[in-house]
Amino acid sequence: MRNAKIVCTLGPASDDRATIRALADAGMSVARLNASHGTTEHREEVIDRVRAVDGATVDPLAVMVDLQGPEVRTAEIDEPIRLETDAEVRFHEGDDATPTAVGLTHSIAAAEPGDTVLLDDGRIEATVERVEGADVVARIDSGGTLGSRKGVNLPGVAIDVDLITPSDEAELDLAARAGADVVAASFVRDADDVYRIADELEERGAEEIPVIAKIERAGAVENLEGIVDVADGVMVARGDLGVECPLEDVPVIQKRIIRTCVNAGVPVITATEMLDSMVHSRRPTRAEASDVANAVLDGTDAVMLSGETAIGDDPVNVVETMDRIVREIEASDEYAETREQRVPTADEGSRTEALARSARYLARDIGADAVVAVSESGFTARKTAMFRPAVPVVATTPNDRVRRQLALSWGVRPKYTDYAEDMEHVLDNAVDAALEAGAAESGDTLVV
Ligand code: PEP
Repeated sequence: MRNAKIVCTLGPASDDRATIRALADAGMSVARLNASHGTTEHREEVIDRVRAVDGATVDPLAVMVDLQGPEVRTAEIDEPIRLETDAEVRFHEGDDATPTAVGLTHSIAAAEPGDTVLLDDGRIEATVERVEGADVVARIDSGGTLGSRKGVNLPGVAIDVDLITPSDEAELDLAARAGADVVAASFVRDADDVYRIADELEERGAEEIPVIAKIERAGAVENLEGIVDVADGVMVARGDLGVECPLEDVPVIQKRIIRTCVNAGVPVITATEMLDSMVHSRRPTRAEASDVANAVLDGTDAVMLSGETAIGDDPVNVVETMDRIVREIEASDEYAETREQRVPTADEGSRTEALARSARYLARDIGADAVVAVSESGFTARKTAMFRPAVPVVATTPNDRVRRQLALSWGVRPKYTDYAEDMEHVLDNAVDAALEAGAAESGDTLVV
């Protein structure tokens, strides 16, 4: 059994039903649909396919709709273009791109001469020379080949785009209509931004969909505590974070985000370039294997794959590789040691946290084989996982959506059960769920 969950971004290489099934069998718990690419209609079809696979697998498979947010991207082009070092390039709002004029989804005229423009996660770098109306003219400092719809970042510049764009509205409609299990919100700055997304979902009658706040700009790092207080989950979105903040700051920021989230019992996903070389390679680099291992050692709830599974040569092999790395590290003495050393304290006054923490130590002290969290909303299950018990955590819930949402939480094996009115029924359900999850056998001891 593996504790850290695997989130896979679906794309042209993986969004057919057979591959979704193969990814789930290889260890995918959450299917991420990135709204920065493709069409809303296609995403709706893919959600149906994921649902069909969820109905056929033992472990739950959740759907995450990841909003594009106020992100600037380059135009959609058929053939990549070459931006030469020292060339002058005009950035304008538009849907075409040539080596001298690159269309963007939004104007970047809020920039000033001297500001840096980073394209494609910083692979191409330019410096702003002048602003002409809504256009920006920049000099390429470090050239490269620019593909379609690549991210554009201007560190420290407040681009004038609302948090929720018209395309996000359509995706929020989709999330509500198709019953997505989680929505990821891009480029949030603070707790108010998280509330705004939650309000949008509420307006669509979908207030039960949790909001994952993506931390991908310096302002969000500064407001981390406030964001973690109100978000249902957090993503360390290292792609944008690594260009919005100095790259050398990202490892420590990642560790802080994971620590803050684990201590608050808020699920945290570590994302981007975890096994990036595997987009085309059969094997990851040593550095990538270490990256996954370190996130797991730090206690991340989930690790995420992006291009590796969306457009990679062999998405199933990538998930199998990630699964092997995570299992190996979770079986190590180093992992057991850090887990014992970093048990969070229970929030004063929180009975659920006190109970969950006690369950952890009770299971250890009596040599129990699993902890079963009986959870209607998922709260008790998440709190149980927060204390990272050394034995499996099984969650029983009479809510099928909650069953899928718990697919994201560290170590939790969620099982759907009927609603139990009395304690005998609760315990029967707990025993059945633990057996079904393979977390216990006849004769074993459970803490419920
Ligand atoms: C990221 O920036 O790391 C990320 C996950 O977001 P996106 O894929 O939307 O760029």
